[in-house]
Amino acid sequence: MQRPPLPLAAQNYLDQRQQAADQQQADGTLDIERRWADARQTQAIAGTADSVLATLRQMAGQGARCMYCSDSRGTDIEHFRPKAAYPTQAFRWPNLLLCCSACGRLKGARFPLDPAGEPLFIDPSHDDPWAHLNFVPETGALMPREWRDADLTLQCSEKGRWTAQILLGDERIQDGWRRTWRHLARRVREFLALPCAAEPLLQDLQEEDTRGLLPWCFGPVGRTYSPFLELREHHPAVWQTCETRLAPAP
Ligand SMILES: [Zn+2]
Repeated sequence: MQRPPLPLAAQNYLDQRQQAADQQQADGTLDIERRWADARQTQAIAGTADSVLATLRQMAGQGARCMYCSDSRGTDIEHFRPKAAYPTQAFRWPNLLLCCSACGRLKGARFPLDPAGEPLFIDPSHDDPWAHLNFVPETGALMPREWRDADLTLQCSEKGRWTAQILLGDERIQDGWRRTWRHLARRVREFLALPCAAEPLLQDLQEEDTRGLLPWCFGPVGRTYSPFLELREHHPAVWQTCETRLAPAP
């Protein structure tokens, strides 16, 4: 997910707020929850146009869904690094995301770090979620990604593990992801029954993909599942076009 620059006025507003918070932090008088609550109501942050919230909605794309679960509508401005523990990031644009109230509640102040101090949580504005998660079509579950290293030892993405454990275990979320899978698979089956050019297929798939599952479907795991497997085997040119557009090699 690409993070666009903020409109200038909104960026200036955040900068001023951060400066004031940093000053209060130095004086020992900072109440970051209160400072954020005050700022959250302003036009620069919550206005319908050119604000932080409007830019986050734009960034979230179709349906302005939650950037963590893609299941519900994103309603809250979320601090990737929790503001209570990281007040120096409270008004920093790269730290702000859009999430649903359920994810906001589940994540709360939880923010696991590895021994080097790096976050063990997927940042949807920075990380490729499919580098850390795997999808299970049978159940709709999002699981941490596993692979074997050079010594054939099984490795597991810690970012994927924590993110899945804290946010993505809910049945409601799994039902939604499974529904998206069914819609995408149905469209590919229709194509297999009545092949057409790549472009209309691509367009339909992108319209159906409300959760961002296509990079997985055309990636190394999804391609082994029917009907994506048959699409790749029987229509290599169409597959190639879709793969290039939907799951480009990093
Ligand atoms: Zn959510």
